[in-house]
Amino acid sequence: MAWGRGGADVWTWDRTASFKAAGAHGSSEFAPRTLRSTFAAPARKLAALMATKMRAPKSATPISVVTGGAGFLGSHLVDLLLARGHRVIALDNLVTGSTDNIAHLAGNRRFRFIHQDVTEFIFLDEPVDFVWHFASPASPIDYLQLPIQTLKVGSLGTHKALGLAKAKGARFLIASTSEIYGDPLVHPQREDYWGNVNTIGPRGCYDEAKRFAEAMTMAYHTYHGVETRIVRIFNTYGPRMRLNDGRVVPAFVSQALTNKPLTVFGDGSQTRSFCYCSDLIEGIYRLMMSGHSLPVNIGNPTEMTVLEFAEHIIRATKSRSRVVFKPLPQDDPKQRKPDITKARALLKWEPRVPLAAGLVDTIAYFKPRV
Ligand code: UDP
Repeated sequence: MAWGRGGADVWTWDRTASFKAAGAHGSSEFAPRTLRSTFAAPARKLAALMATKMRAPKSATPISVVTGGAGFLGSHLVDLLLARGHRVIALDNLVTGSTDNIAHLAGNRRFRFIHQDVTEFIFLDEPVDFVWHFASPASPIDYLQLPIQTLKVGSLGTHKALGLAKAKGARFLIASTSEIYGDPLVHPQREDYWGNVNTIGPRGCYDEAKRFAEAMTMAYHTYHGVETRIVRIFNTYGPRMRLNDGRVVPAFVSQALTNKPLTVFGDGSQTRSFCYCSDLIEGIYRLMMSGHSLPVNIGNPTEMTVLEFAEHIIRATKSRSRVVFKPLPQDDPKQRKPDITKARALLKWEPRVPLAAGLVDTIAYFKPRV
């Protein structure tokens, strides 16, 4: 597919898909909207389009679609949206998500779950105000095992979710990632850093899928005028992480709770900063409701080495575990810390939950599951 300046392929594809959808479902909502090429627009018009405005939802009860709504972060987002009065439709193919994460919502009349792979056409016969695209494998072990699905959900899935937002006149948010910075050469990472990614390395499928997803999101914004938001999520933890997803929080907590050695990769000097899930979701909600269409980092800037983190976990669980060192996986970023100046200024947001407090709830969640 050509993505050139007003490329004929882009135009033709979009028009065909919209007509097909209208024919297939007989819904006027899928009738083609007026297409315009902002690539050809004067700079003033483009600037006006980029400075997206706040817009009230179409109805008193806003309707949100959350892809990946049965996942770790997706399900916490669903909870927050329901608490703030939204009706929520969660889509998930349950490859890495679980109905356990949304079981408590059974019987809630404002919640609906659809078991669907979002790389397939998304049909909904009701209005939609917000599309939150969270579907993707997200742990290094998951995307190593599912590289094609990871690439597909970041590319085809983002395309379908954007298509839904465009058809419904909804605002769209893509859950992007600090992984788009790769093994960063700039520290801490600001949004204007372009990153250092090995396209063909083991993390390439995730990193490049998310980079593509950001590019696709901006293209729908500039070309189709869809209101879009891009959040770059840094390491996040909390209840509903999968015990065996291989990420450092469930790995260390489950090892500590069973008094097994904590497997520190490399010499443990690589750094991360961990954001509690409720802080993260609040930041993302604020971004969606803001008027800002360029990427925003959301994460906790309290940086520590992985070895220090292991010691935190041993203390917090009162474990007898010790630490063992294992080889560092290829392309494991050596340092990571978000610069959240932008989120502070634009969204009046910063994390509030200290690591010790967040770990209490996380450990309580894992204890009966180990
Ligand atoms: N890590 C570790 N032991 C484990 C799992 C992970 O030392 O059992 C390290 C990993 O090498 C990385 C950091 O912890 O440096 C965070 O890994 P995670 O998989 O949670 O996410 P990443 O930030 O690498 O995407």
